[in-house]
Amino acid sequence: MTDFSSIYSQILDAVATVEPRVAEATRQELRDQRRSLKLIASENYASLPTLLTMGTWLSDKYAEGTVGHRFYAACQNVDTVEAVASEHAKALFGAEHAYVQPHSGIDANLVAYWAILNYRIESPTLARLGAATVNDLTEADWEALRHEFNAQRVMGMSLDAGGHLTHGFRHNISGKMFTQLSYGTNPSTGLIDYDALRTAAREYRPLIIVAGYSAYPRRVNFAKMREIADEVGATLFVDMAHFAGLVAGKVFTGEENPVGYGHVIASTTHKSLRGPRGGFVLATEEYAKSVDKGCPMVLGGPLGHVMAAKAVAFAEARQESFQVYAAQVASNAKALADGLLRRGVSLVTGGTDNHLILIDVSGFGLTGRQAESALLDSGVVTNRNSIPRDPKGAWYTSGIRIGTPALTTRGFKEAEFDEVADLIAYVLKNTAPCSTPTGPSKAKYELDWRIAEQVQARADELLEANPLYPGLDLG
Ligand SMILES: *Cc1c(COP(=O)(O)O)cnc(C)c1O
Repeated sequence: MTDFSSIYSQILDAVATVEPRVAEATRQELRDQRRSLKLIASENYASLPTLLTMGTWLSDKYAEGTVGHRFYAACQNVDTVEAVASEHAKALFGAEHAYVQPHSGIDANLVAYWAILNYRIESPTLARLGAATVNDLTEADWEALRHEFNAQRVMGMSLDAGGHLTHGFRHNISGKMFTQLSYGTNPSTGLIDYDALRTAAREYRPLIIVAGYSAYPRRVNFAKMREIADEVGATLFVDMAHFAGLVAGKVFTGEENPVGYGHVIASTTHKSLRGPRGGFVLATEEYAKSVDKGCPMVLGGPLGHVMAAKAVAFAEARQESFQVYAAQVASNAKALADGLLRRGVSLVTGGTDNHLILIDVSGFGLTGRQAESALLDSGVVTNRNSIPRDPKGAWYTSGIRIGTPALTTRGFKEAEFDEVADLIAYVLKNTAPCSTPTGPSKAKYELDWRIAEQVQARADELLEANPLYPGLDLG
């Protein structure tokens, strides 16, 4: 058996000889992660082989370009790891093409957007003008093409319904590149309103429809999304950053599996997929060449060490144990949601059928900010999040987002998540909003320290029974 304790102790000792504060912060992060009831829906724990793969000299190589077609010499080993990662990604998702260079989810989305612009706008323009590349365009034609890029429309899910900033919002480059119209959820069901989306798309005629979310607790019907996209001549871009693990683990199948419906699909590798921090893009054959232009179009030189770790994580996700894990993530989310509902906690859409849950804390008289802080005082790590049509806005919010991928990796099952539901409900019921001399506060709250301590103690028991990186002992 690999002696990870000895490997990591030696690595950290070596780091400490140069900068002891970094070695200590790294050790401390392990202690902190071990002691926290991590319910952040976008986080996970990658395997030790995946983490170790990132710490090598593959980082020292420049390899702009693609496999076998690099702008630098001597890239044969980066070629190998990139090709292996891509081969695993294609097999894992059943995709026609996989591009594993993106450094993060946002970068993967940028690659996707520029690939779509390249395929839909630039290539036809070049063909029409009889130009081989953009270098052959006259100044006037180039200027016109640049304006055309900027005139394109995107439809993505609204932020308060669970969409992501990169889906055309003004605080992200996507909102500066494109004109955007968002679609939301039905106020009575809380579910995506496909009919309203279809009507709006017919009118708006977007180049791109974005499907995918960060805070929507339900599955998406990608067949319907594709049908709407086809009807209006849009490219269907799926951002599966959050739920890629449920796709890889075959929890989302048929019309709920975006592969086969999305023309271009982007993702992170570090959320439910449990790999290294990074991103990747899947595409149909027709978009493949455009996607491969990602570096140097919008990406800096590929991270050879991280692509190597992606290859390891994809290989892990192809094992049957990952399907068991993904199924457990979903059934744990259900158990957590049921446990909360039974204890009188209100959930957006009334439950979940993926890996995440959105709690509406307004019934407790709290803002998301107050609930998040009170839970954190009790050792329960969550994040505040707006709910659809949130009256408290995006900073204070009325919601708490939680998810099961991380604790499921530690071995939590339905019974443990029912206990987690009890802890959350207990804290929320015992937290009271505070007033300031000028009126009610949206940030201040009161929680008896004895309750916080009691919850932390019960959380500690759960965590000790389900250790993170069992056997890894750094002294
Ligand atoms: C997390 C997330 C991203 C961004 O991923 P980063 O790796 O943080 O850049 C993009 N889209 C969605 C839907 C996400 O949930």
